[in-house]
Amino acid sequence: MKIEFCDLRRQYLYLKNKIDSNIRVVLSHGKFINGPEIRELERNCSDFLKINHSVAVSSGTDALLASLISYNLEKGDQIITSAFSFASAAETISLLGLTPLFVDIDAKTYNLDAEKLKTILESEDKIKGIIPIDLFGQPADYDEINKIALQNGLFVIEDAAQSFGAEYKGRKAGSLADLAITSFFPSKPLGCYGDGGMVFTNNDEVAEKIRQIRNHGQTSKYEHKTLGLNLRFDTLQAAILLAKLERFEKEIKKRQEIAQKYSDNLKGLSETRRLVLPHVKEDNTSVFAQFSILLENRGTRDTLKEYLEKKDIPTAIHYPKPLHLQPSFSYLNYKEGDFPISEEISRRILSLPMDAYKNEDEINYICRIMNEFFNN
Ligand SMILES: *Cc1c(COP(=O)(O)O)cnc(C)c1O
Repeated sequence: MKIEFCDLRRQYLYLKNKIDSNIRVVLSHGKFINGPEIRELERNCSDFLKINHSVAVSSGTDALLASLISYNLEKGDQIITSAFSFASAAETISLLGLTPLFVDIDAKTYNLDAEKLKTILESEDKIKGIIPIDLFGQPADYDEINKIALQNGLFVIEDAAQSFGAEYKGRKAGSLADLAITSFFPSKPLGCYGDGGMVFTNNDEVAEKIRQIRNHGQTSKYEHKTLGLNLRFDTLQAAILLAKLERFEKEIKKRQEIAQKYSDNLKGLSETRRLVLPHVKEDNTSVFAQFSILLENRGTRDTLKEYLEKKDIPTAIHYPKPLHLQPSFSYLNYKEGDFPISEEISRRILSLPMDAYKNEDEINYICRIMNEFFNN
């Protein structure tokens, strides 16, 4: 059996009529930039999250960039983020002349450890904000993080690139901080057919500012109020997302059922401590952007990965190297041992195939091969 890691074709075949007809509408009205589909998608996303403003932009990374620009920070200001994540938050912080301050993660959720926030706040004095990441599909602990931020006068930007659709204490990811961003990269839980992203906020002024920043800082044509960029989202991509958003809640349910099926089938291996299954906290639901397990050590992880590949089961490592050890951040002078949990998880983590259209036979096959690996 040949398995896809994330099968976007099956989803397309399922939604083909709606997606194709939405695309044809855009081709015929011709408003490829700032077309009416952008506004409609923004409204639908605001309704979905129960938030006042959604601003569509060109990618998740650009959503972080626009968010950070909107805070008028000064060179050398420090922003806290997780050492174990994709690079976007840390690199946009750095590119704006700000300094990323990494914090280690919680060993079970892989999200920023709120306890460790307190320690870093005692030792540094130019901290202005926090960017927690909702890794693999479940939100970080926002009540705790927002409380600490409020006590210290810091802003919080939620990176919900992987958690769009998930919930924290009944509230939706993307609505849990002052500002939030998501990504519509094709393989994210809600993805378009190219690059895209969105900024979410309840603050009218901030939303207006982000709208200006995404369009060269313009308040009207050729009236540039602030410095901005071209961070606009494509109308065609918005049209595609409008079709996908209609089925999104069903797809989330499917992803959660598939995750449960994996957990049931791998329960034996988990009980004998051959692997650790994803842990979703009681406060949370997860959209399982990734279904990531932990193996005993790097050797077992890499051997299992190879074994699965030979059986046409692709896997991925999110992420093989924590950010503080990446060459691009070497100028920050972190060293091996600074964030032991991030370092350990990067050696042991492995993501299994996941999308809303996997069938039971496929999950059974993957789990059977995994059991076979451990029983040999
Ligand atoms: C994917 C991702 C991003 C960046 O999104 P792009 O749309 O690819 O720019 C940012 N943060 C996290 C946690 C992500 O997973």
